[in-house]
Amino acid sequence: MSHQVGLFLFKNDLRIDDNLGLARAAAETDQLICLYCLEPKQPPSSLRAPADLSVHREVFLQQSLTALDNSLKILGQRLVVSAEPALDIIPQLITQYNIAQIYSSENVGYYENLLWQRLIKYYPLISFQRIASHTLFDRTELPFELTELPDSFSKFRKVIEPLKIKPARPQPMMLPPSPASSAAWPWISNRSAHQPLFEGGEQQGLTHLQRYFRSGLASTYKETRNGLDGMDYSTKFSPWLANGCLSARRIIQSLRDYERNMGANDSTYWIYFELLWREYYQCYAHRHGKRLFGFSGIKSRKPTTSFYPERFQKWCRGNTPYPIVNACMKQLNSTGYMSNRGRQLVASCFVHELGLDWRYGAAYMEHQLIDYDTASNWGNWQYLAGVGADPRGHRRFDLTKQTQLYDPDRAFINRWDGDRHDPALDSVDAADWPIVTFQEPL
Ligand SMILES: Cc1cc2nc3c(=O)[nH]c(=O)nc-3n(C[C@H](O)[C@H](O)[C@H](O)COP(=O)(O)OP(=O)(O)OC[C@H]3O[C@@H](n4cnc5c(N)ncnc54)[C@H](O)[C@@H]3O)c2cc1C
Repeated sequence: MSHQVGLFLFKNDLRIDDNLGLARAAAETDQLICLYCLEPKQPPSSLRAPADLSVHREVFLQQSLTALDNSLKILGQRLVVSAEPALDIIPQLITQYNIAQIYSSENVGYYENLLWQRLIKYYPLISFQRIASHTLFDRTELPFELTELPDSFSKFRKVIEPLKIKPARPQPMMLPPSPASSAAWPWISNRSAHQPLFEGGEQQGLTHLQRYFRSGLASTYKETRNGLDGMDYSTKFSPWLANGCLSARRIIQSLRDYERNMGANDSTYWIYFELLWREYYQCYAHRHGKRLFGFSGIKSRKPTTSFYPERFQKWCRGNTPYPIVNACMKQLNSTGYMSNRGRQLVASCFVHELGLDWRYGAAYMEHQLIDYDTASNWGNWQYLAGVGADPRGHRRFDLTKQTQLYDPDRAFINRWDGDRHDPALDSVDAADWPIVTFQEPL
């Protein structure tokens, strides 16, 4: 009898627990290659971020991959990490090991989808399966076709809320062995983050999940969730969720256990509510494809913003006339994380006060955020730029009022030195422009 050799391509699902694709690959193959490809320097659009990944993102990813490799070893497997792009390495592996099945988790990334389409086209005899593991529901569970995705979150929530979420699937006891010989990893990060807030890896994510619900903070989440600084005001599930070290269904299961033991209230409901926002953006990104990165988003009219290099640079560095924005940006640059309230304020400032093209702000956050998630990042930016799923079509925050509300004693601004900035936003104002005299054509 011939052996079935399979390949499982890890992406943003760096876990064993509740990984439906991995479980299916394990059940259907005799030998399995577990592969992770380091992405080529590929920006989401033509707006190239300053470097590939911020130190925070890079270190978190490295930790998550190392942890995954360790967990795989316990199950008789190991992780092959390739520096070559997936489209180069996968054909080599197919020929070398006679691979018959290829599996991967579903991904909203535009380039990941192109890769998948190309592989299917080149290898018609291979079975390809993509399995949803980043979301609470898979496509078949949704009561609408993706093309009929409700155009606002409220409408989406109304149809989604009655659905039952499947329980998280326990990790497999064993995996089929790998036919590939051991090879050194092509990349070990030698960068280190100064006092990192989060440590990557599945076990770290699960430990954080338990710690969060043991702390009782879930019962006051709704009152504290708009905080700006510290670990306790919100769940901080996002870094592990975005990298797939934690599954959204595992979180819901822990939330339901908590509600049974400690009581359900508005706050516990609100954690679920926020996870539905995440779900909405995942569907939204699948639905709209590359329009997620387009200047006019899902609307037909382009915003009236532009690109001013000096303003952009000042925003990135936290050197604008808006102390609350400066504090948030400095927090992001030194930790790789920013609160949800902070993200709303800096994005609103970017578009409305500085008049900048929203895609540059989204690209900067893609580079910096430790919890960067394609759908959540670009979807939220579109929403705030007025080109997304916001029925009001326009969100401009009054930064003075927001400061009074969320940082009344300026503790956050002082901590992150938000008051220090250049006196003027633009170093060249209208009076400094060279005088140009126009001559009448002869
Ligand atoms: C401009 C902008 C960019 C953003 N970029 C990202 C991103 O790249 N990755 C990311 O995970 N989130 C992003 N968000 C959403 C949100 O800010 C973060 O999910 C949240 O701050 C993470 O911290 P937390 O886990 O403590 O959140 P909590 O408040 O504890 O929420 C629990 C979980 O719900 C989900 N969630 C909460 N708010 C949102 C939201 N508005 N949209 C989607 N999911 C949400 C997240 O998975 C989060 O972990 C962005 C928001 C804005 C306004």
